[in-house]
Amino acid sequence: MIAENLSLLSKKIPSNIQLVAVSKTKPNELLMQAYDHGQRHLGENKVQELVSKHESLPKDINWHFIGHLQRNKVKYIAGFVHLIHGVESLKLLKEIDKQGQKNNRIINVLLQFHIAEETSKFGLNLLEAQQLLIDEAYLGFSNICISGVMGMATFTDNTEQVRNEFRTLKSIYNDLKMSFFKDSNDFKVISMGMSGDYEIAIEEGSTLIRVGSSIFGARDTPI
Ligand SMILES: *Cc1c(COP(=O)(O)O)cnc(C)c1O
Repeated sequence: MIAENLSLLSKKIPSNIQLVAVSKTKPNELLMQAYDHGQRHLGENKVQELVSKHESLPKDINWHFIGHLQRNKVKYIAGFVHLIHGVESLKLLKEIDKQGQKNNRIINVLLQFHIAEETSKFGLNLLEAQQLLIDEAYLGFSNICISGVMGMATFTDNTEQVRNEFRTLKSIYNDLKMSFFKDSNDFKVISMGMSGDYEIAIEEGSTLIRVGSSIFGARDTPI
């Protein structure tokens, strides 16, 4: 079933869009079904779960951390994580940089923006991001690479609202690209779109979608 879902998805999404299969709460057997179908980018939102899956599964999986990351847990994933999607503070960036140094690697991160109406969702606004990017502390970091932006739209049936929120993220991306990353080839990811809204996200300029339930089935826990 998972192979079938992945085949269907790959027919629907343009080949230049990166698919991260969100495997949170799902057992390793199901992740291996995706792996055997060729899926190498998986996403998790809990540090402990990510660490244990990384330990038991093949080492050529690219792991995306898509949840809210606590500073004291960065050290557990710093040695192997492929991309941290949800960065929204200088303090967190500082810790990621520190752990990057310890592990002798550059850690790729995305700045998360608050584009939804729900206050339960995390993220920066444009002004906060601009302030972060001119902060001397940030300019001194050597072991992080800001690779783009991430956001989650409101959970609603109102597709126009969802579209507008994705548009907002795309325009934030353009703004930052122009002002801070003009000469950078690294700042290129727009992580937006999940099972319910990835089609709209792609129309609005997403480069990476994070799809869980459409691949692995519904989750028991609503996270
Ligand atoms: C769970 C989750 C997803 C995937 O959600 P689905 O609706 O199952 O596709 C994507 N992004 C984030 C940040 C998530 O927490």
